[in-house]
Amino acid sequence: MVSRIEQRCIDKGMKMTEQRRVIARVLSDSVDHPDVESVHRRAVAIDPNISIATVYRTVRLFEEANIIERHDFGQGRARYEQSPESHHDHLIDVQTGRVIEFQNAEIEALQREIAQRFGFRLVGHRLELYAVPLGADDGADPR
Ligand SMILES: [Zn+2]
Repeated sequence: MVSRIEQRCIDKGMKMTEQRRVIARVLSDSVDHPDVESVHRRAVAIDPNISIATVYRTVRLFEEANIIERHDFGQGRARYEQSPESHHDHLIDVQTGRVIEFQNAEIEALQREIAQRFGFRLVGHRLELYAVPLGADDGADPR
């Protein structure tokens, strides 16, 4: 079985080694925006010979080919997801690093409007919400 990411690599004429195929599969199967360490852990469960250096190299290769997207969710480590087919934004639980994907038509419209106000046509954006669960103590003074 060829994973979606592997198929995209093949379509782009990339040479697929067995280890690259495993990493492609791990990334295809992940819905949690894993960091390199998590990808490595999952890859090693399939092939114990895959090194963290190989994961770093392969992830960079996939990223440069626009097959996966890198995110900086403000926790000092890059996290990855398969380049999405439709646009979405992210809410990050800063306590656990859990990522929730969302789409909001009003936010999308508002962003276009702001760009227009400055005489621009919006061609893209990144939006990340950093949050703690309701009722959790975030260490900040109550407002
Ligand atoms: Zn996402």
